[in-house]
Amino acid sequence: MAKNEELMEKIVSLCKRRGFIYQGSEIYGGLAGTWDYGPLGVALKNNIKKLWWKRFVEDRDDVYGFDATILMNKQVWEASGHVGGFADPLVECKKCHHRFRLDQLEDQKKCPDCGGAFGEVRQFNMMFKTHVGAVEDATSISYLRPETAQGMFVNFKNIIDSFHPSLPFGMAQIGKAFRNEIAPRDFLFRSREFEQMEIEYFIKPPKDIKDLEWQKHFDHLKYEMKAFTADIGLDAKKVHELEVPDGERAHYSKRTIDFEFDFPFGKKELYGLAYRTDFDLKQHAQFSKVDLSYYDEESKERFVPHVIEPSFGLDRTVLAILSDAYHEDELTGAATDPAEDAFGAAKEKRVFLKLSPAIAPYKVAVFPLLKNKPILIEKAREIFKLIKKEIPATTFDDNGNIGKRYRRQDEIGTPYCVTVDFETIEKGNGVTIRDRDSGKQERIKEDELVKLLLGK
Ligand code: ATP
Repeated sequence: MAKNEELMEKIVSLCKRRGFIYQGSEIYGGLAGTWDYGPLGVALKNNIKKLWWKRFVEDRDDVYGFDATILMNKQVWEASGHVGGFADPLVECKKCHHRFRLDQLEDQKKCPDCGGAFGEVRQFNMMFKTHVGAVEDATSISYLRPETAQGMFVNFKNIIDSFHPSLPFGMAQIGKAFRNEIAPRDFLFRSREFEQMEIEYFIKPPKDIKDLEWQKHFDHLKYEMKAFTADIGLDAKKVHELEVPDGERAHYSKRTIDFEFDFPFGKKELYGLAYRTDFDLKQHAQFSKVDLSYYDEESKERFVPHVIEPSFGLDRTVLAILSDAYHEDELTGAATDPAEDAFGAAKEKRVFLKLSPAIAPYKVAVFPLLKNKPILIEKAREIFKLIKKEIPATTFDDNGNIGKRYRRQDEIGTPYCVTVDFETIEKGNGVTIRDRDSGKQERIKEDELVKLLLGK
């Protein structure tokens, strides 16, 4: 098996084993392109969302948070162009009848599964269609949104009327999106239900060809997107910017940059940044017959703003983080188990997730050295409560032996483990703190513990 395929399998299996991510509807054999997040996956995802919201909404004074519905009037999708054009080229093998997305095939002439010939190329619309209300006819059709963006465009006027913002300003939203992908694959990378984090940043339209004011905003947002990848601890060397050339951009985009990431299965799109001009607002104004222009007090002019859109896939972020964080190494038994003698201990293979403390599901785990000694447990519980008050993402673990607990915490990426042992109690000698990445332990006084952890 190729090394990278093996890595993906290891990540998928760790996610299941440790409660990050499970196959959707697993007990029924699954549903292709769906993934369920377990307790640790939710924690990781929420930490990412929090950092995103902080950088793009809370820390700024020009971006409004938003949360629009998944179901919208079908005219939204007619205006946006999704009903007419949100399609991928689909081919079906005449022999085995397997279906593929043509643009993703290396050899577009024959079926990769059986070598058979393809039938005609068909445009396959990726929106999930449904009916709203009890009547199932053409008037009740709606779609599960394939992007969060449109929910913001159709509320542009509401923001203007409620808040009277001056340009430039943005709207930001985190939410589910649905696409009936022809070939969901690569774990979370291409699924049929996923989450997006998107910003629509409205700017004044350029006055003429030489007016490059929009470039300034575009560059600023590009910088912020890159900075966000650092917030979540992604290795900067694996994040690449790709200028999407003329002819390959969406028809409404004047400039697009894809942020690509070195996933185990290759360099692929993680995020996108697009200058969408006034395409969306103009379309919605035309279809809804509602005026979506903006009156600029300063210049006393009325115009339709242009928009720059940073778009982030949350699940692709989770996958990038997991594949970046996955590590294997060897530690001596002494480093995983303080009860063992450093000299006779054998080296032991271990798996650990090198997650940044900012996004790790748990920041600290607290253990009693032994699980059957009430005096150790009581003290460990006391210290656990003390830390948890300051660092809520702290967990208590007294399952199995201490070596197993360290390995479990390593696998879920907990940066620090605190152990209460006999020295803590008998000699008042404090506790040990173990660093996930080096496996090294230091002894620290109880009253310095919380401060030290907060500092880290
Ligand atoms: P691709 O070319 O990979 O299908 P796209 O260019 O169609 O992606 P956009 O429409 O720009 O994607 O969507 C914005 C973001 O949403 C992407 O950068 C990606 O992070 C995420 N995304 C899109 N489709 C999926 C999917 N099927 N599964 C998970 N995330 C997705």
